[in-house]
Amino acid sequence: AKSTKPQLDASKLTYTFNKHGGVVPALDDPIRREHNSSTDHMLTVKWTEKGGWEAPQLRPYGHLDIMPTASCIHYATQAFEGMKAYRGVDGKLRLFRPDLNCKRMNLSSTRIALPPIDPEQLEELVKNFVSVDCPKWLPDPETFIYLRPAVIASGAALGVQKPREATVFIIAVLFPPMEVLNGMRLLASKEDMGVRAWPGGHGWSKVGANYGPTLQAQGEARERGFDQILWLLGSEGRVTEAGASNFFVVWKNKTSGRLELITAPLGDKIILDGVTRRSVIELAKSRLSHNPTEVLKEVQHLEKLDVVEQNYTIDDIAEAYEDGRLVEAFACGTAFFVAPISYIQHEVDKGIEVPMNTTTTDGCKSGAYAAAIKTWLKEIMYGKVSHPWGVVI
Ligand code: PMP
Repeated sequence: AKSTKPQLDASKLTYTFNKHGGVVPALDDPIRREHNSSTDHMLTVKWTEKGGWEAPQLRPYGHLDIMPTASCIHYATQAFEGMKAYRGVDGKLRLFRPDLNCKRMNLSSTRIALPPIDPEQLEELVKNFVSVDCPKWLPDPETFIYLRPAVIASGAALGVQKPREATVFIIAVLFPPMEVLNGMRLLASKEDMGVRAWPGGHGWSKVGANYGPTLQAQGEARERGFDQILWLLGSEGRVTEAGASNFFVVWKNKTSGRLELITAPLGDKIILDGVTRRSVIELAKSRLSHNPTEVLKEVQHLEKLDVVEQNYTIDDIAEAYEDGRLVEAFACGTAFFVAPISYIQHEVDKGIEVPMNTTTTDGCKSGAYAAAIKTWLKEIMYGKVSHPWGVVI
């Protein structure tokens, strides 16, 4: 039964505009690398168990008002999303499949004992926020801004219990333009680095509790010259995700000899159901597989492949490399987009050199499949083609 308390209602949004707006730094301004500059506004909405949802507020970017006893500071009662707004070649602002982020935010929020968040209302709020700040803060065609919706248990309540108050907020953060020039170098995790996610756990949800505990290992990997950790699971070394990105390999299957695009399956609550992951799988099935529904001239030179969501191990990749069956590998997610992998270190002095046989038009080395998929996603994000995944604001 639906609660009779006020529901989340985007149409109740109130606006208090920032009279002292900031200056938008140029794309090459080092400030974009140094710290996370935000835009002029943020959007906040409060929920309480007693009173339901208050009216959402768009207001000047600034501090959140929470007490030191707020549950989110102590017990990781927090969940978040990561999405981007894109400025198209046609000058229009777009989101990429925002419905999927908003549904996932609802799942993550309830996983950590915070209230359900109506995905359609949240999407409406994201669009309202973007339409206020992005005309100014996202001026250049073919660039993006990062959007961070989050929900925190904001009530003062030190007891270890289900939160009775929550605050949803949406902010936008500037990123420098990012391209991975020579592929990413991954360090495969060892048991002493910890485990990112496990069967029956919460790796599938975007709760902050999944991220903080991985940062020590990530810092060590960076110090040793790697870009990310390739998170393995169990003594068999199941391949799960790369940093906070999903992970794909293209290889020739050992038994059948068929070319495959393989990634770990969703299902045992380990892998995050990435929006990019899902989009890669859907595009590869329709354009690159043996039974494509869309036949594109530009990939006729590429051998067709099978798209498989199955468990595989680091030893399987190493064996494919030794047999000459390894074709390419890439990580994918909103933040780092489609990032080709050049190297995976999995034993002290043993590494896998992953082939990267193509150079993209922007001068980056890549595997040919990653390059094709990246181009297709960019075309949708930047409005070079009209596609239902590119949602115009
Ligand atoms: N895995 C993890 C653990 C992540 O945090 C993310 C980023 N949300 C991804 C994968 C990629 O997901 P998406 O494509 O939705 O950004």
